[in-house]
Amino acid sequence: MKDIFEFFYTHSTEGLIITDAEFRILGINPAAEDVFQIAGSTCIGSSLVQTIPFQCIDLTFENIFETLTLEGSWKGRVSHHLPNQTIQLLSCNFYQLRQELSEQTHYAFLFDLISDSKLLSASLLLQQEQYASFLKSLSEGITVQTETSDIILCNPAAERILGLTRDQMLGRSSVDPRWRCIHEDGSPFPGETHPSMVSLGTGLPQRNVVMGVYKPDGDLTWISINSEPIFDNNSAIPTAVITSFNDITELKSIEQSLKKTEERWNFALEGSGLGVWDWNIAKQEIYFSPHCRRILGFEHYELPDDIDTWRSRVHPDDLPVVKAQLIQYLKGQQERFEVEYRVRKKDESYTWVLDRGMVVDIDSNGMARRMIGTHADQQQRKQMEEAERQISQRFKAVFNSMYQFIGIMTPDGLLVDVNEAALAFAGITMQDVVGKPLWEAPWVSYSETIQTQIRQDIARAAKGEFIRHELEIAGKQNDSTIIDFSLKPVRDENGIVTLIIPEGRDIGALKHTEKLLQEANEALAKRAEDLSVSNAELERFAYVASHDLQEPLRTVTMFLELLDARYGAQLDTTGRTYIATVTRAANRMKTLIQDLLQYARIGNDNFTLKSVDSQALVTAVIESFGQTIQETGAKIIVRDLPRLHASETMLYMVFHNLVGNALKYKQGAEPIIEIGYRLEDAHYEFFIKDNGIGIHSNYFDKIFIIFQRLHKKEEYSGTGLGLALCKKIVERHRGTIRVESAPGQGSTFYFTIHKKIKRLH
Ligand code: ATP
Ligand code: MG
Repeated sequence: MKDIFEFFYTHSTEGLIITDAEFRILGINPAAEDVFQIAGSTCIGSSLVQTIPFQCIDLTFENIFETLTLEGSWKGRVSHHLPNQTIQLLSCNFYQLRQELSEQTHYAFLFDLISDSKLLSASLLLQQEQYASFLKSLSEGITVQTETSDIILCNPAAERILGLTRDQMLGRSSVDPRWRCIHEDGSPFPGETHPSMVSLGTGLPQRNVVMGVYKPDGDLTWISINSEPIFDNNSAIPTAVITSFNDITELKSIEQSLKKTEERWNFALEGSGLGVWDWNIAKQEIYFSPHCRRILGFEHYELPDDIDTWRSRVHPDDLPVVKAQLIQYLKGQQERFEVEYRVRKKDESYTWVLDRGMVVDIDSNGMARRMIGTHADQQQRKQMEEAERQISQRFKAVFNSMYQFIGIMTPDGLLVDVNEAALAFAGITMQDVVGKPLWEAPWVSYSETIQTQIRQDIARAAKGEFIRHELEIAGKQNDSTIIDFSLKPVRDENGIVTLIIPEGRDIGALKHTEKLLQEANEALAKRAEDLSVSNAELERFAYVASHDLQEPLRTVTMFLELLDARYGAQLDTTGRTYIATVTRAANRMKTLIQDLLQYARIGNDNFTLKSVDSQALVTAVIESFGQTIQETGAKIIVRDLPRLHASETMLYMVFHNLVGNALKYKQGAEPIIEIGYRLEDAHYEFFIKDNGIGIHSNYFDKIFIIFQRLHKKEEYSGTGLGLALCKKIVERHRGTIRVESAPGQGSTFYFTIHKKIKRLH
């Protein structure tokens, strides 16, 4: 053990001095002799302090020895003057050694030479009293950090700025988690990137690094940091770093509020579509705000900030104007610099800008040093102007191409504009009426009464009333017409009448036509009335006549029968033939009268309308012809038929006549009859189709006239009433009847019945 100690004592590179309890030297190892350049033998027994008068930055020997005695050890750095006056810095570890047995106290002083001369000199410098007081008086914070970034020194300003005591700071490294630091943008400032760490890591000084440091009380302090690495003589790696920093909190807040103001300005200017430029004329430097570039279609980083770039983009035709304006302004010949010109965009097209600027700084000779100004994108305005121009052109075109008379006037009735139709009607030009009141214009000035009315109309329209009435106006050469005249008030956003639109639609021709139409209508109505009177009279006559004729006819028939019965035998053949002829004629007359009566009744009587099942009705009709059908072998096909609103009696008569005709006017054996219907828009259209003899188209109309027949009664029985009756019935149901046929081709009769019939016509 002793040997090991001996070995260490002799061969250690660290200097070791052993003292007794009174700090008298008991032994010095070779390394210590080397460090302090003394011979061990000469100083055994002498006081350590006197032999090696080392100095500590801020502690006295007494302080160190006290700590050593009380705590058993002391660590620190000390400096020492060599006899040749060079100073060396030593890292110290002092220990108290107690020997249990002898109860003797010894001290071991271990010295290690710090070889970094710069740190050495800096530290030593700092130790010098005047420098220490200078350091104390500095408002700048100073810290010295070792290669591991432990703070080994700080001045009072550093304590104040960082809000930490010296004790709290010493030994704390940059990466200590207790630091809470941020960048200017608020993001964390990691310890590894602190300027002192960067300097230590890179060996480069760091300048004006801004850092926000939270003080223990939570307040944020902004500091601007400079750090200076310190190198060992032969090493490229820094062994320490001196950091100095200023409190820029106040500056920062001013800067921030300035920045805010600037941001607000920029925001306002950019928001209003203005780009900002700032031209330092003396230095030929110019700043363009991002919007200046945006106007040209560039990104904010794309175009260099220089005056030539801008100049090269101004349209060559406009450049002289811009220059002239600028010179005039700078010479004071013009109150403001304001010029509109074209600049070339990124896509090589040109856009219009309005450039405005002012001098904000002049030198002692009164020459402009700095100008600021704005660029306003005029493209949109130019486009809007163009659009407006087009709109007003279009409006004017519409305004003038209208047949209507139309104008624009002020609320007090002064004409601002009048369209060509109105001017042409009066044979005047715009100059004749513009700026003059409407009531003095030739259209209405012919009559004082009209003028008064127009003035009253305008007064009412000016209060917001819409005026409209007919008005007779005068045109050129005693021409006149009636117009549908109106005054329409136009209000602004506040509801105030700002304009009145006078308008006139020429209704002279319309009025004339209206009058003619009315006259025609009246005549027609009269005729219809006359006709309906005569029709009604005729029908009443027919009814009465047929009714009254029956009675004498019955008498004739009765006496003819009596004559035949009583005297028939006495008469010769000729006589009996006469009686037979008269009887036939009388019978025929009876039928005719009955038919006539029936026909007249159809026109007069009020049959009731009701829901009719036409299918059932047709079945009944067919049944009534049972015998004929059997005899002729006729085939009747009935399709589905609808339920509809009609007079049942009358509809029965129609089907009865049409089916009867189809059976009667057959051709050859086995007549085939088909009955059906289809739905028209407002009608049911029924049809009865046969394969009979057919009808020539010449007679399509004739057959519907009462007592009109195409055949002799000897060929086919009948009076010629059937179809006339059908026509009358159908018409009373607001329908029509027609036939499609050709001789030998069969016939189809169509008739319609109105769907929504309310009453018979
Ligand atoms: P009534 O019907 O009074 O007994 P009518 O049958 O002769 O006599 P309408 O029914 O009015 O009288 O017909 C008029 C004429 O139209 C007929 O005389 C006939 O010549 C022609 N006619 C009518 N229906 C047909 C038909 N289906 N085919 C060919 N001709 C027809
Ligand atoms: Mg008939």
